[in-house]
Amino acid sequence: MSRARLPDAEHAGFETRAIHAGQPPDPATGAVVPPVSFATTFAQESVGEHHEYEYSRSGNPTRTALETCLASLEQAAHGVAFASGLAAEDAVLRLLRQGDHAIIPNDAYGGTYRLFDKVWLPAGLGYTPADLTSLDRIREVWQDRTRMVWIETPSNPLLSIIDIEAVAAFAHERGALVVVDNTFASPYLQQPLHWGADVVVHSSTKYLGGHSDVVGGFVATDDDEVATRIRFVQNAAGGVPGPMDCYLVLRGVKTLALRMDRHCTNAAAVAELLSGHPAVASVLYPGLPDHPGHQVARHQMTGYGGMVSFVLVGGEPAALEVARSSSLFTLAESLGAVESLIEHPHRMTHASAADSPLAVDPGLIRLSVGLETLRDLLADLTAALDGADTRLP
Ligand SMILES: *Cc1c(COP(=O)(O)O)cnc(C)c1O
Repeated sequence: MSRARLPDAEHAGFETRAIHAGQPPDPATGAVVPPVSFATTFAQESVGEHHEYEYSRSGNPTRTALETCLASLEQAAHGVAFASGLAAEDAVLRLLRQGDHAIIPNDAYGGTYRLFDKVWLPAGLGYTPADLTSLDRIREVWQDRTRMVWIETPSNPLLSIIDIEAVAAFAHERGALVVVDNTFASPYLQQPLHWGADVVVHSSTKYLGGHSDVVGGFVATDDDEVATRIRFVQNAAGGVPGPMDCYLVLRGVKTLALRMDRHCTNAAAVAELLSGHPAVASVLYPGLPDHPGHQVARHQMTGYGGMVSFVLVGGEPAALEVARSSSLFTLAESLGAVESLIEHPHRMTHASAADSPLAVDPGLIRLSVGLETLRDLLADLTAALDGADTRLP
């Protein structure tokens, strides 16, 4: 019964790995869903002699299942799970030392920016935000002490596309680590290690979990040294996910491929609708042929994702009106789950960056296009947009 269901794990397809990797049937009972392991401590044979587990901060069977499964989806040698995406990011930043410098995207996730600016900058870690879609910009801000380039692609909320392979080659020539926040794409649409990244981070709160009911984070890498350090920090700093949270993410990823396919087709239709509406000044979706990152996205992704941003002709008043009047698109932060969400980055997710170089256009709206019936989604948006002022503010 404990026979692994992945005789040739390396070659099993994505969906197969999402459903089976790390989760063979329970050897004791044959249960096809391995039991969630709530124990905090594990009986030892004799003093200092234990089985695989001793204490659940250091290791827990449900967490191991999750780490095995997610590492397999990123085709990574190592996976380490955390209590949130930001706990995962914080562990990655601990790879750096006081005096080191990092380059981050100029539209990084607001919480990533806050972590760099308010937690790590005071602790002696320098950083510079830059437009990472341009190697010239990266060259301009590069310092002797630059040790890390932090990529987010597609980025949040502008959905700009960074060429992972090009940036990784540039950074590696200069001895820096390349980290990719792969939250927006998910491993189904993009596998950054394949393009030369050293480390992948995820907020599993988003597409991996996929149901708006669990907060989690994840780090994947092929680098043994990086993995050892991240694993050490996981135990030493203790930002670990609980077993129930691990179970919920494991359950979520079983349908990741199906969900991402539908997120992509729904988002493409939404982007097309927005492109043709008079209240909309511009649409940011990497699947649109006129998106500046379209060619790179085509190359490094297998689909364009479920996130769509757009700017209203009527600026902030029109954006607030659309956010207020949509109904199926629920006004809320977060993204990547079955239900469609709408938000105003300037006042919501990116408020922590409002006075920084990372401030976003107040007329911008971000949509997380969910899995409801497409016709209902389009009708809801059309009604909300028809009520928006099409005049300049
Ligand atoms: C949500 C998010 C994070 C932070 O993850 P949490 O799970 O909320 O801590 C990091 N990066 C991106 C792109 C995100 O969307």
